[in-house]
Amino acid sequence: MKDSNFLKENNGRVFWHPMTSPEDSIKNPPKIITASNGVRISDIDGHEVVDAVGGLWNVNLGYSCAPVKDAIAAQLERLPYYSTFRGSSNDAAIELAFELGEFFAPDGVTRAFFTSGGSDSVETALRLARQYHKLRGDSGRVKFLSLKKGYHGTHFGGASVNGNANFRTAYEPLMPGCHHIPAPYTYRNPFNESDPEKLAHLCVAALEDEIAFQGAGTIAAMIMEPILGAGGVIPPHKSFAPMVADVCKRNGILLITDEVITAYGRTGAWSGARLWGIKPDMMCTAKAITNGYFPFGALMIGEQMQEVFENNPAAKIGHGYTYSGHPVGAAAALACLAETKRLNVVDNAAARGDQLYQGCLALQEKYDIIGDVRGGHGLMTAIEMVSDRATKAPIDAASAMKVQEVAYQSGAMVRVSGPNLILSPPLVLTEADATAILDALDAGFAAL
Ligand code: PMP
Repeated sequence: MKDSNFLKENNGRVFWHPMTSPEDSIKNPPKIITASNGVRISDIDGHEVVDAVGGLWNVNLGYSCAPVKDAIAAQLERLPYYSTFRGSSNDAAIELAFELGEFFAPDGVTRAFFTSGGSDSVETALRLARQYHKLRGDSGRVKFLSLKKGYHGTHFGGASVNGNANFRTAYEPLMPGCHHIPAPYTYRNPFNESDPEKLAHLCVAALEDEIAFQGAGTIAAMIMEPILGAGGVIPPHKSFAPMVADVCKRNGILLITDEVITAYGRTGAWSGARLWGIKPDMMCTAKAITNGYFPFGALMIGEQMQEVFENNPAAKIGHGYTYSGHPVGAAAALACLAETKRLNVVDNAAARGDQLYQGCLALQEKYDIIGDVRGGHGLMTAIEMVSDRATKAPIDAASAMKVQEVAYQSGAMVRVSGPNLILSPPLVLTEADATAILDALDAGFAAL
């Protein structure tokens, strides 16, 4: 490793970071993480903290998961790469497709199309949705619906269904035919509705209204996160997803759940679809599929689409990635799935998630700066910070950064996204780790 001065100087000089302005990388240099142990990470100056971000919602099993590391090393030795394009396959990818089919059978999605990450899984879902309708002779169905505040990655398709201007404006014009529905975001919504159940009904009515306005026969699919993640951890009322699924079904619209964050246990259920008791037509997964150790994703596909694509010579999938079914990623995913099941991480995610959520609610009692606390479904929690509780005026960026920095110095890496502090730690968190995160946050808020 190069020395610390070299790394600090060149990080801002030659390295453009995602979701960051190059100028900001110089003015506010990031933490340079160089080592890890369990759920802890250490920076270049030797400061160790609990990683309350869980990498980027993906390191569910922590940083010391030997079975995944060993599987990667063994696969690299035996077969470091082979393509799965027409005419070839590899054993790890086949085995993984089988295992994922079993794992997601309760969600009704039992076929796998492999990708290199979340954005790729979303892109694949949008494309296959259009192709599905064309194969059925319903080629007018080309539009997409999604939720405002939703996040679906950064390819042009995903950006077009994204519901946050931050990820859209600079790259417009985006794909035509993408329309956005109000999110079931109780703290702020255009209906001024503070009852989550009533809000769920209002949002579904808006969905039905948009479908009628566009014409059901023009819409290919609706994509949504079961719990909105990057948009600030927005869990809908439990009635919301089933109502959306019902509206989609009645209107011949495919339902895609974007579970890049929610699949594999984060919500305290094995998938977001299972959390809400719905059966999507496609499910986008990535991130925790390999515990973040290898870039990989899987789009899971349900029965209705299987019937149209399988045993059909016209159904050629003209889409795929060099790294679709990468054997090292597949080996990592197989080991990760086995370990995820062996440790039964859903139960710990639910228990520790409850501890964190209750702890954040207690902090809200103590600090006026906390406008809203959202969570209650596994290890996905957000604290929305305000400068004035009565008006809900968002906190200024400098104050938000200060909370983050003091929390870091006090023992926890937390992530600030706009006014939100997002907590998505590994699912193998202990009670003491969760307490350490809450203590660090307490110190961060106290500093203001
Ligand atoms: N969809 C959702 C719901 C996500 O949270 C993310 C990533 N945060 C993506 C898609 C994109 O995944 P990736 O960054 O791996 O391309």
